[in-house]
Amino acid sequence: MTGADRETDAQFRARLRKFLSTHAPGPRPRDPAVRVEWTKAWHATLVDHGYAGPSWPREYGGMELPFARQIIYQEEIARARVPGPLGTGLGIVAPTIIEYGTEEQKRRWLRPMLRGDVVWCQGYSEPGAGSDLPSLRTTARRDGEEYVVNGQKVWTSSGTLADMLFCLVRTGSPGSRQKGITYLNIDAGSPGVTIRPLRDLTGAAIFAEVFFDEVRVPVANRIGEENEGWPLVRTSLGHERSAGAMNQAASYRRVLGELIDLAHERGLTGDPLVCDRLVEFEMRVRLIRYNAERTVSDILTKGEPGAGSSVSRLMIAAFEQDLHEFAVDMLGPDGIVTAPSGQAVQRGRWLTGFLMTRASTIGAGTAEIQRNTVAEQVLRLPYDPAMPPR
Ligand SMILES: Cc1cc2nc3c(=O)[nH]c(=O)nc-3n(C[C@H](O)[C@H](O)[C@H](O)COP(=O)(O)OP(=O)(O)OC[C@H]3O[C@@H](n4cnc5c(N)ncnc54)[C@H](O)[C@@H]3O)c2cc1C
Repeated sequence: MTGADRETDAQFRARLRKFLSTHAPGPRPRDPAVRVEWTKAWHATLVDHGYAGPSWPREYGGMELPFARQIIYQEEIARARVPGPLGTGLGIVAPTIIEYGTEEQKRRWLRPMLRGDVVWCQGYSEPGAGSDLPSLRTTARRDGEEYVVNGQKVWTSSGTLADMLFCLVRTGSPGSRQKGITYLNIDAGSPGVTIRPLRDLTGAAIFAEVFFDEVRVPVANRIGEENEGWPLVRTSLGHERSAGAMNQAASYRRVLGELIDLAHERGLTGDPLVCDRLVEFEMRVRLIRYNAERTVSDILTKGEPGAGSSVSRLMIAAFEQDLHEFAVDMLGPDGIVTAPSGQAVQRGRWLTGFLMTRASTIGAGTAEIQRNTVAEQVLRLPYDPAMPPR
């Protein structure tokens, strides 16, 4: 038994907190290019000191923590306000590689992803294939030990930063739907890949569209078998995501506290309408916390997240939209001053949040699709005939 194994939860929390306060990378740089390097350096620091990948196997750079410690980890990360990872690889393709990848793929891809040396982005959605993903049309034609990929992806978050794209491609016939989909990882620097930023309503370009024109991809980049990519799509670090719900609960607790401070600073707490809304948000942020605890409790007692996780996303998406909308209203005309003017309240964070959170009920499955999931899988109501069977 090592010293770390004999540690109590409280000792682990104290050790982690000390590490985060000693090594946290300081204020967020304003220059986007500098910010990317700053974020990468932070994630490399986490891996190099053994504080990254709370649920990942140790041999690939992770901590392999028991679930209760993962919760502590997520709470402390939220508290420390350190930068999150770049790209979308850690929560989506990493667990897929861990579960279905070959040993060679695990060694090649996992550690560089965790360190932030290689940024991974998701190429699933296409024009015409979002909620109904099995209708995707990007093709991959086998040619010896390579696939030749043609088609287009869209809404690729952080796409302009991508070094690797984890994609779903059609290897079956055009009408084969989920039976003809293959999971293929594509080097974003390959000849024939074009990545174009898509400007969003905040003025930033967090999305990109990606075009593939006769892109040659080694068969060795395929995860799982040809035409058998669909079942892999649902793989996630279920437990890590549930522990992440505690991170979100802690983050929103902090954000609401900051909004309440702002209401005090601006002398608005005498307004009964303001107080009424703040109380409502206080109740909702507590419900988010209780729901996260319920999810955690289900995992500890039944081994799986259960119904709590299905409603979490809907609750959080509605909460963050309403909270930012209220903040902008509360600030009156000052609330619509944008950051570049230099006059913006708190660098325009509430207005940016208001604009950004419009996407919360679309990304990673729209609110309507989430409601379908709750209806079908939690309430056991009839299945939506428009969607593929789950
Ligand atoms: C912030 C954000 C980040 C994203 N990041 C990525 C990414 O990195 N990679 C990636 O591949 N994609 C990404 N997406 C795309 C996202 O997955 C899709 O936008 C989403 O799945 C919806 O697909 P769609 O936009 O094609 O809308 P559609 O599927 O065309 O839906 C249009 C409308 O119809 C409704 N609808 C559709 N089908 C049904 C149904 N059966 N029942 C009831 N209502 C229905 C929807 O709810 C929606 O209101 C991102 C999107 C956002 C907003």
